[in-house]
Amino acid sequence: CGIVGYIGSQDVKEILLYGLEKMEYRGYDSAGIAVRNDEEVEVFKEKGRIKDLRAKVDMDFDATVGIGHTRWATHGVPNVKNAHPHRSADGRFTLVHNGVIENYEQLKRDYIPNVDLVSSTDTEIVVEIISSFAQQGMSTEEAFNKTLEILHGSYAIGLMDEEENDVIYAAKNKSPLLLGRGNGFNVITSDAMAMLQQTNEFVELMDGEVVLLKADEIIIKDKTGREIERESYIAEIDE
Ligand code: GLU
Repeated sequence: CGIVGYIGSQDVKEILLYGLEKMEYRGYDSAGIAVRNDEEVEVFKEKGRIKDLRAKVDMDFDATVGIGHTRWATHGVPNVKNAHPHRSADGRFTLVHNGVIENYEQLKRDYIPNVDLVSSTDTEIVVEIISSFAQQGMSTEEAFNKTLEILHGSYAIGLMDEEENDVIYAAKNKSPLLLGRGNGFNVITSDAMAMLQQTNEFVELMDGEVVLLKADEIIIKDKTGREIERESYIAEIDE
């Protein structure tokens, strides 16, 4: 399983699909990508191999921002509905998640009792809770932070907001997630291998931090919202 994300000016579809192929060795049962242009987000998902997903991706616009996922099902059978990215019912937020949300049933009851979920995953509640906080008037960053505070379990998360075309949000807890720095673009990835064709310059992300990934900067914040400066390193890996 694994996550990739890219924000920049290149054709994001190829970058995401290539990255997912590079992570095939980690095991998965389904995969998906969400891509966006200035106005809208489109989601494509498929059960089975990345080449099947590739065949299904039929974009009607050029996209340079997106997130992708290979799923190793823990809650809910491998099928298209349960594949990630998951999208909030209002269409605004799109999210990929690796890991397990242990308290998802409790969170469903406490925070979104009236939302009809589409999937049987532990993940979909996360995007719906973010959406419900946003509907209450929080900014996306606040809604994301507040949601992370109440999650128990392991996660690497990538999040897109249809109303903001210049940022991907990300966070992790006990699941791997790296930030990759490029010239005019930046990436997130579970595995450096998946993004080596783009960059070999990475920045570590720690549990509990939140990332605002933009094309020309990577903003890392701690739990209190304070910005963190962290040096990048060069990964000496052969592709
Ligand atoms: N627990 C989530 C699911 O079953 C994510 C699984 C994964 O890490 O791929 O959908």
